[in-house]
Amino acid sequence: MYSIVRSISRYPKNLSGSIRSLSSTIGTNSVLTQLSTNSRQKSSMAVPDDEPLHPELEAFWMPFTDNREFKNAPKLVDSAKGCTLHMTDGRQVLDGISGLWTTNAGHCQPHIVEAIQKQAGKLDFASNFNMGHELPFEFAQRILDLIPNRGYGKVFFTMCGSSAVDTALKLSLAYHRARGEGQRVRFIGRQRGYHGVGLGGISVGCITPNRKTFSGATLQQTSHLKHTLDLKRNAFSKGEPEHGGIEMADELELQIQMYGADTIAGVIVEPVSGSTGVLPPPKGYLKRLREICDKHGILLIFDEVITGFGRLGKPFAVDYFDVTADMITCAKGLTNGAVPAGALICQEYLHDAIMSHADRDPGSTIEFFHGYTYSGHPLAMAAGIAALDVYRDQKLFERAALLAPYFEEKIHSLKDLPNVVDIRNCGLMGAIDLTVDPARPFRRSTDIFERCFADDVLVRHSGSAIALAPALVIEKHEIDRVIETVRKAIIASSESF
Ligand code: PLP
Repeated sequence: MYSIVRSISRYPKNLSGSIRSLSSTIGTNSVLTQLSTNSRQKSSMAVPDDEPLHPELEAFWMPFTDNREFKNAPKLVDSAKGCTLHMTDGRQVLDGISGLWTTNAGHCQPHIVEAIQKQAGKLDFASNFNMGHELPFEFAQRILDLIPNRGYGKVFFTMCGSSAVDTALKLSLAYHRARGEGQRVRFIGRQRGYHGVGLGGISVGCITPNRKTFSGATLQQTSHLKHTLDLKRNAFSKGEPEHGGIEMADELELQIQMYGADTIAGVIVEPVSGSTGVLPPPKGYLKRLREICDKHGILLIFDEVITGFGRLGKPFAVDYFDVTADMITCAKGLTNGAVPAGALICQEYLHDAIMSHADRDPGSTIEFFHGYTYSGHPLAMAAGIAALDVYRDQKLFERAALLAPYFEEKIHSLKDLPNVVDIRNCGLMGAIDLTVDPARPFRRSTDIFERCFADDVLVRHSGSAIALAPALVIEKHEIDRVIETVRKAIIASSESF
């Protein structure tokens, strides 16, 4: 089996290899097939049969990527500035997805770059286990200052969004145990939720390919609410859909009846699901979840890895929806994507419960037995503090709020195009959902993604949808260009199959 896969990747001249696998995904007329055919023709002139097309790309096993396809037709970024990616082939590509929902202040923002450079020369690493340095203390306070008056009192730094999610799950267990309710071990996630790639995160998340290979090792005590997409009633809603919010949230009561409130530690949702195609919650949904969790002593965790740091025109979704979660997980915009980092922001009372439990145990030293070598890493902290300066000084959250109606109007102008079944948006994130051919479900979104990229605009294909998340610094004419490129690609794709 391995050798077959290997031959597909390394011998792109073989029509039976890359082209067969591609056409099964996206069809023979698509741009992707064309690109691959070009690569194949080039390679047949220059490369002996047993050589990979790009030997220099062989060593890196790329994450969440069709490695065989990429290595036949690579897309390599050389440098970036603002909303523009400069590719190694000399092309300039407009970034319509802020890197990967990360780069809210634009790429290579000078103040952030300078802060990282200075910090690297001053203190490259310091352990935060039983000693420390000043930056995480300062950064934690600056984050809390963004969300005053909601009871948040502590920030626990992690390495990324996945580790922030695992930290939230572990803190939930520790909290209930500290209160003498150690039997609360069940977590409830939601269909179409994405919470990173840790075993905890894939257990509460619900994207089939993320789970199926690993299902033997996922947490057993997890279940999922239905997703909030209701195309019959809510297709083409602008912002939060009108229908179904309360009844969808009330489904949590059914889970509570089934498992018993006293077994449930927490509920985790993305306030707006991002990775599965931008699903804003129907009106009233999050508030109702909050009420039900309060009634039953269940913790509510908002995974704000995408929605945090201004994506919705507010610092966090807790402000946008005016619903206070017990914990917020974040990453990405935390450092403007410039240095890997994540964080868990939690209510002061969660911390207090753990501390008072430790106070009661004479043998206790470390109160919460958890942490990462890189929790509070100096470069990440410096990048994060500088990112907050930029967000504040350039009023970027306010800017996102001002741009959101323009973005909404533009993205919804694609409504009447062929094969468009829904358009959704919230703040500066949106998605265009496309028809699905059950035999090749994501063929159309992949094809449109490739067409946009060939036209020098980067969007994201998420399942059957094209997702957009422009940087908060984007200009209106750049939004126009993203939308017009997507329009052209949808039309061309529809004419092609
Ligand atoms: N949670 C959400 C909502 C995300 O969107 C992501 C990543 O996209 C993660 C968690 C995982 O973050 P990371 O890739 O930094 O581990």
